[in-house]
Amino acid sequence: MKIALVGIGKIAVDQHVPAIAASPDWELTATVSRSGRVNGIEAFTGISEMLAARPDIETVSLCLPPVPRFAVAQEVLRAGRHLMLEKPPGATLSEVHALERLAQAQGVSLFATWHSRMAYGVAGAKAWLAGKQLHRGRIIWREDVRKWHPGQDWIFEAGGMGVFDPGINALSILTEILPTPLHLTGAEMDFPANRQAPIAARLDFAQNIQADFDFRQEGPQTWDMEFETSGGHLALRMGGNMLEIDGKETAGESDIMGEYPALYACMTELVRDRRSDVDLSPMMLVADAFTLGRRNIVDAFEF
Ligand code: NAP
Repeated sequence: MKIALVGIGKIAVDQHVPAIAASPDWELTATVSRSGRVNGIEAFTGISEMLAARPDIETVSLCLPPVPRFAVAQEVLRAGRHLMLEKPPGATLSEVHALERLAQAQGVSLFATWHSRMAYGVAGAKAWLAGKQLHRGRIIWREDVRKWHPGQDWIFEAGGMGVFDPGINALSILTEILPTPLHLTGAEMDFPANRQAPIAARLDFAQNIQADFDFRQEGPQTWDMEFETSGGHLALRMGGNMLEIDGKETAGESDIMGEYPALYACMTELVRDRRSDVDLSPMMLVADAFTLGRRNIVDAFEF
């Protein structure tokens, strides 16, 4: 199946292009980007131009930041093409509800992806936690924004989500592996004096779970979560890729193919079955944190 990739930035180049190249189902047929290119692939600078020129491309995958994404997403769906969205699926919840309705009306598939849910340890963690009573949980998601998002000023603009851009990956895993819906009871966010989005956030959940997200971590990076349960201790490390039970590393699922190849395999099934997959639960928790959270102003930040 032919696919076009829109927004040829860091994640498109690092993950989407190789995942599509390795897929038996997908052929990268066009790109849309003001400045990015993929060698040997027909390049357009605007979405309208691409949709008009290539009616044979049935599926479009968007790797744009959340704010410019909605207008492009609407245009793709109105043109009757299937649509795959990088996380987070929009700048607001309402936007994604609108896209869901539009996809349904057009009879096409919409996939709001959460790549971290495809990490090697996630399915095993979910299976192990089922039926156990959760006593407490702790999430630490601390990374260096200069290393992972070099020069990406959009991330600190309104709608860019700041530290929730990686933090939502932790929330996507949490909402996948826990047997009951999470309830956010409190939050505290640190906003740099010169920016519109938080550089750090601490969240409390009714299930006795705390999360600590921080973009200022230098040296070793941490993407860990740990749970005390009635049946022992579970830890997911390396962004969900390493699973430990009672301190011992367990073998990951050998048939899992890696995060982005797994997303494209899911998209194949959705398109073939004309289904959509849109789970907004991670994004609802971020919206709750912005609604309920206390705000601190901290030192200005420059890349
Ligand atoms: P990026 O490197 O800044 O690339 C963003 C792309 O979108 C570029 O190709 C950019 O320019 C295009 N774009 C179009 N309109 C834009 C606007 N108004 N402002 C900024 N860029 C605009 O960002 P990225 O890291 O690839 O992230 C893109 C999405 O992927 C985000 O939603 C992010 O959460 C998600 N993601 C990122 C990572 C990561 O590690 N970086 C991991 C997983 C998911 P052109 O028009 O020139 O193409």
